Amino acid sequence: MRGRMMETPLLVSSLIEHAGRVHASREIVARTVEGPIHRTTWGAVRSRSRRLAKALRSHGIAEGDRVGTIAWNTHRHLEIYYGVSGMGAVCHTLNPRLHPTQLVYIVTHAQDRILFVDLTFVPLVEAVADQLGCVEKVVIMTDAAHMPVTSLTNAVAYEDFLAGSDDFEWPILDETAAAALCYTSGTTGNPKGVLYSHRSTVLHALGVSTPDVFGMSRSVSVLPIVPMFHVCAWGLPYAAAATGAAMVMPGPKLDPESLSELLDSERVTFCAGVPSVFLGLVAHWRARGLAPGGLRMVLIGGAASPRSLIAALEGEFGIEFRHGWGMTETSPLGSVNTLLPEERALPAEERSQLLTRQGIPPYGVELQIVAPDGTTLPRDGVAFGELQVRGPWIVDGYFESDEQHLTADGWFPTGDVATIDPDACVRITDRTKDLIKSGGEWISSIDVENTAMGHPGVAMAAVIGIPDEKWGERPLLIVVPAPGAPPTKDEILEHLAGSLAKWQLPDDVIFVEALPMGATGKVQKRKLREEYGSR
Ligand code: AMP
Repeated sequence: MRGRMMETPLLVSSLIEHAGRVHASREIVARTVEGPIHRTTWGAVRSRSRRLAKALRSHGIAEGDRVGTIAWNTHRHLEIYYGVSGMGAVCHTLNPRLHPTQLVYIVTHAQDRILFVDLTFVPLVEAVADQLGCVEKVVIMTDAAHMPVTSLTNAVAYEDFLAGSDDFEWPILDETAAAALCYTSGTTGNPKGVLYSHRSTVLHALGVSTPDVFGMSRSVSVLPIVPMFHVCAWGLPYAAAATGAAMVMPGPKLDPESLSELLDSERVTFCAGVPSVFLGLVAHWRARGLAPGGLRMVLIGGAASPRSLIAALEGEFGIEFRHGWGMTETSPLGSVNTLLPEERALPAEERSQLLTRQGIPPYGVELQIVAPDGTTLPRDGVAFGELQVRGPWIVDGYFESDEQHLTADGWFPTGDVATIDPDACVRITDRTKDLIKSGGEWISSIDVENTAMGHPGVAMAAVIGIPDEKWGERPLLIVVPAPGAPPTKDEILEHLAGSLAKWQLPDDVIFVEALPMGATGKVQKRKLREEYGSR
């Protein structure tokens, strides 16, 4: 027997309509790429995202078409999130930190018809424009007065692109339709597209808004340091609309001084980002002797948070620290660590030790750990195995790929290795893959190795991540030179710089006679880490 309740679809447009109707005067404050602080409201974001949707439709954008963004966290990016997904197209956020060849691959794979580009990234697009055959129009996210001189022949200013009026009716879509697309780097092969649906996006927004996750409400003022080009800024733009939280957007200025100034002047209560950003903030606050007054809570994830950072935030600055775990494939929120009252009462040292764990899953996410033979492992804090996850906001396959990624019983294998304590709290102990995460961004060791081995003087190469206080990890390249005249370190780095972004380049190159090889002919990276990991 069916229930007798309305089957209103869960749509991204319903979030912005709610925010515009109910929380119309709550503020959205953005540091613009042009410079000044811009103040607007959820009411105005609703109106402008409708105007954008109307403009997209008159350009011929249809349901399911992909529309790309290369942009910072600003009010315009927020309008694009809602305008694009709301009218039925797919909002595809691109990471500008990727190498241009990777960007070309991703835009082409996604078949983006329009690109929305911040002023900062116009030169990036100009440099590869002749390889972006699918892109019909580049909308530069500024007004006519700030339009740059550009070689792009299909460019228009954002403020000119917006339609004149906001009388746009959002279409009633199937809630399982695609809403947003975000590519993730795999250990092997090309980046893979994770395609979020309207339903998964709305359910994730509601799930992360709960008190033990982001604790969102209309009394919150949130500053997402995590970029909107990385897993939809962890869903914060959607959760804020659902709850009427005010948003403060940092634009292009992510240095500790600018962030701290904005946190202070806008009385931000909550902010979220990767550990390396907070290491910078803590150093800045120490230097000036104070953290921003209004900041009550931070959620740090994307990489393991060092205990010293947790202790500084909680002990020195009195800011509640929450540790989150997730991945692009999990929308991203998989687990969050918050303390119970009796745990809060523990001495600081014990408290920060507890907080190094990655936490418990919110309702909507199921987690388990399994042995290599697939058997489920006990939650005893000792047994460790691959972390698997399932739920309505977890990926079930990649964009335009027929490959099977789930287990036979429907779990997504994360590639992370974890233990689960009897209190259901997860601790990530390692990862099965050998990717390196630097400043919140992945560096594919295989990519760097393959490029290094493209140098005629390199016989074999292996890359490992070594711990780095500022960036989390940095790559170290270990090279077996080809017989004859061995190349110098500078020659190898210069060669790598030809196809890798600057931040993907190894910090150092070590020359060895041979690499340790395993039984199946693979380089044993664990041995390399043991030998060079703590240098
Ligand atoms: P991404 O898809 O780029 O967001 O990266 C996801 C990966 O980042 C996960 O599979 C983990 O390996 C790692 N990760 C995310 N959060 C944490 C955390 N709190 N502690 C340790 N590793 C993390």
